[in-house]
Amino acid sequence: MVMTPTAKELQRYAELVDEISRHDAAYYTLARPTVSDYDYDQLYRELKDFEEKYPAQRAPGSPTLRVGAAPLTEFRQVAHRQRMESLDNTYNFAELGEFFTRAQKLLDGHAVTYVVEPKIDGVAVSARYERGALTLGLTRGDGRIGDDITENLKTIRQLPLTLTGAPEVLEVRGEVFMTHAGFARLNAEREEQGLELFANARNATAGTLKLLDSREVARRPLTVVLYGVGEVSGSGFASQTEMLARLQALGFNIPEWHQVATDGAGVLAAIHALDARREKFAYPTDGAVVKVNEFAARAELGSTAKSPRWAIAYKFAPEQAETRLTAVTFQVGRTGVITPVAELETVQLSGTKVSRATLHNADEIARKDIREGDVVVIEKAGEIIPKVVGVVLTKRSPSAVPFDFAARLAELGLDAGREPGEAVWRLRQPSREQQVRALAHFASKQCLDIDNLGPAVAEALINAGYVKTPGDLFALRHEQLILLDKLADKSADNLLAGIAAAKQRELWRLVHALGIPNIGAQTARDLARHFGGLDALADATYESYFRKKTGKKGQALKAADNVVAGVGAVVAESLLVWFTDPAHRALLEQLRAAGVNFNAAADRDRPLPLAGKIFVITGTLSRPRPWFEEQILALGGAVSGSVGKKTTHLLAGADAGGKLEKARQLNIPVLDEEAFANAYLKTI
Ligand code: NAD
Repeated sequence: MVMTPTAKELQRYAELVDEISRHDAAYYTLARPTVSDYDYDQLYRELKDFEEKYPAQRAPGSPTLRVGAAPLTEFRQVAHRQRMESLDNTYNFAELGEFFTRAQKLLDGHAVTYVVEPKIDGVAVSARYERGALTLGLTRGDGRIGDDITENLKTIRQLPLTLTGAPEVLEVRGEVFMTHAGFARLNAEREEQGLELFANARNATAGTLKLLDSREVARRPLTVVLYGVGEVSGSGFASQTEMLARLQALGFNIPEWHQVATDGAGVLAAIHALDARREKFAYPTDGAVVKVNEFAARAELGSTAKSPRWAIAYKFAPEQAETRLTAVTFQVGRTGVITPVAELETVQLSGTKVSRATLHNADEIARKDIREGDVVVIEKAGEIIPKVVGVVLTKRSPSAVPFDFAARLAELGLDAGREPGEAVWRLRQPSREQQVRALAHFASKQCLDIDNLGPAVAEALINAGYVKTPGDLFALRHEQLILLDKLADKSADNLLAGIAAAKQRELWRLVHALGIPNIGAQTARDLARHFGGLDALADATYESYFRKKTGKKGQALKAADNVVAGVGAVVAESLLVWFTDPAHRALLEQLRAAGVNFNAAADRDRPLPLAGKIFVITGTLSRPRPWFEEQILALGGAVSGSVGKKTTHLLAGADAGGKLEKARQLNIPVLDEEAFANAYLKTI
């Protein structure tokens, strides 16, 4: 009976053809996939199931009828002498069983053996040798016609340019790929140069092979393994194992591991053995390729529209793990792009310890409704950086609140925005007003204390274009300064002397001067004392701010868990975000080059005049109360809200009431604002 699909099934089928075709173009032509291979394979499976159920409905342009995508036009196009095929794939052993049954049936019960090899996650290529010389390198393209990438292939050191004792014509086929280390190095270099990063090693490889400039290809860490042949003159090979041995003898890299099995059970055992060791391989693998060993049997089995019937890929489903997401933090890239990062309770995943995962962007967090404290599922699918797949809603705490991206940015003092239609938030460039404020803060009494550099001079320096960042101060020259109408000759000298003296100030002043959101004078002191140097502070990890794992069992952080007083999750993140920004790193280098003190030795030697003193503040003062609190904290003192036996001083402004009374009763010294300033502020 011929089955007919429902209108809904037909519509879904059309959608699948369309969506998979778009993914194919993104993956094969642009080397920039937008979904994971696993997700792609699920869609492909749905499409294939439909076509198997309703064969008459198969669209002429169906992805099941084509290999890869049309080659790129910039390269010379060359027809393959023998088609380069794709591989059927499966994620389950039941389907693998069907593969053996089908093969046995087609072979009429003739015994064959199977070879199991790692499925390397790279890009398929063909290399043709004529009379021992490499003459042609091709991509798989659409299986019939490939791009001529001979010059690019020649840059790969592991691929011999000449062979001795090879058949007259020998076309070898294999995989070009990058090792984990090579890929990480390449991305690190790209980050340094402000270039877009590759999502995974396979994309990086595909993108590299498509470069038109082979000198650039030569700089990329490509390598190659050969596991097959196309056209071979002479008697050829009788089996995969014979061929591999011969290729190795000719000087080719062959898969570092393969195993021969005589039946299905042996193949399963080999796949398990491979899975257990593949993490130790220096490159990414996404499965096992099972091939009939004997070439005569292969010829009998033949091929379907796009894949041989004598081979199948068993793909390992991406390994997943559950863990708690303790916090969402931000990473700021060189171009100001803000990427949210999931801070996780460390779990073991695919052989490595994972404590962070990417959250891509604000929309992704909203779409998956990821909240701090949630238990999440993470996976590693070819990418070096794991991703958060979703939330385990049954384990969500009733107190978990939706993550407010914009509010968190504001809380961290990050001035960021996003263009309509853009997925990412970016830092806005500081305005002139902000620059002036930052410079005046840098020079203020509680920071590097530069005489003669108040807001008016800061503004003049910025308007004149002499100074863009505080680091530029140290390059100012007398001739420049006297041109400013705010400065007479003498004050220019004083300013330069003040700037020179600022180089020797204590470290806490510099930490405070940097203007890191949420870092006041007291926290700056604590940080300087704890880390001992600016470099250690700049390189501190999120974990290093906490005594134990944060947010365990969804609990809020306790102040007791903080390593540095006052540095909780938000402040730690603020520090991390600030020090990740390349512009800030550049500022540190500028300050270092100018000879500004990065060391806390001087801080340690200075006694804190208010150490051990507990102040209470009351009445109306000339500045907001928090300002005085900060001064007291900066001098090593503490501030309490009510007068008691432990109170050592009362700072009283006008119209003081009950607290003043009580202090008098308890004989606690009372200071007015002037007395306080005279006694202590001079020491800052
Ligand atoms: P494939 O990658 O599943 O399998 C065939 C390829 O495996 C060969 O061409 C070869 O390059 C490679 N291979 C590695 N080791 C091998 C070995 N030892 N022996 C033989 N071959 C080996 O098939 P495909 O047609 O290249 O691509 C289809 C797959 O690509 C999909 O299943 C999907 O995972 C991925 N894909 C992803 C997207 C996306 O948007 N994420 C889009 C298209 C395709």
